[in-house]
Amino acid sequence: MKLTITGSGSGKPTAGKNLSSILLENPPHLFLLDCGEPVARVLAERNLDVDEIEAVIITHFHPDHSSGIYMLLQLFHIRKRTRKLKLFLPENIELFQKSLSLFYLFPEKLLFALEILPIAQLNNEYPWLSIIDNDHLLNYRKIIAETGSSNEMRSCSIFIEADRKTLYTSDTENLKSLTSALDLAELVILDALHPAPQKVWELLQTKKTVVLTHGLHHELATRLAADNSTGAIIAYDGLEIEI
Ligand SMILES: [Zn+2]
Repeated sequence: MKLTITGSGSGKPTAGKNLSSILLENPPHLFLLDCGEPVARVLAERNLDVDEIEAVIITHFHPDHSSGIYMLLQLFHIRKRTRKLKLFLPENIELFQKSLSLFYLFPEKLLFALEILPIAQLNNEYPWLSIIDNDHLLNYRKIIAETGSSNEMRSCSIFIEADRKTLYTSDTENLKSLTSALDLAELVILDALHPAPQKVWELLQTKKTVVLTHGLHHELATRLAADNSTGAIIAYDGLEIEI
């Protein structure tokens, strides 16, 4: 299997960096993990056959991981995709479906079938992929209660049973919520912005291969500049990793 980090930026838009997205190849399957902008342009530049991507998996609804889905659907439509697309969403499927007509992407008019599934079903469809709920969105509890909004605060990490057991943390706050998956993983594609730099540093001292993506906490950047013996790989757009 192979991962290509097509977007290594964080939620703070940064010149020269795409927002979060990763291509996952497990032939004949090709998946897109997260859908940050400008993912449609990235795929157009890679000259992919638009029928090749089997499924898109969105780990949480922060816009740097999800908002590219609209232009991606538009790209698929314009390039005359015919294959059914499976779209796994973390929550609020009905609300998302309504947003499609807001953007004039009426599913009835798309040239391909769009099957929207809850991310909890991912493992049923693909037993080599598992979902782990993480704590990234839990700080919204108060505003959600106050506004009565329908957000479920679901944010997921993805465990991939590849030759090298791989954990894509996506965004996460405290690495504690991922302890057992981190123990199992040989390769970690890690959010290097949100978790405490000391906890990331401790992870870098283990035998695991760690790819730091989604930006770099400034304390972590300083520490790595002073000591580059950890073997940490700093992600960039286009980085390919055999897993
Ligand atoms: Zn996020």
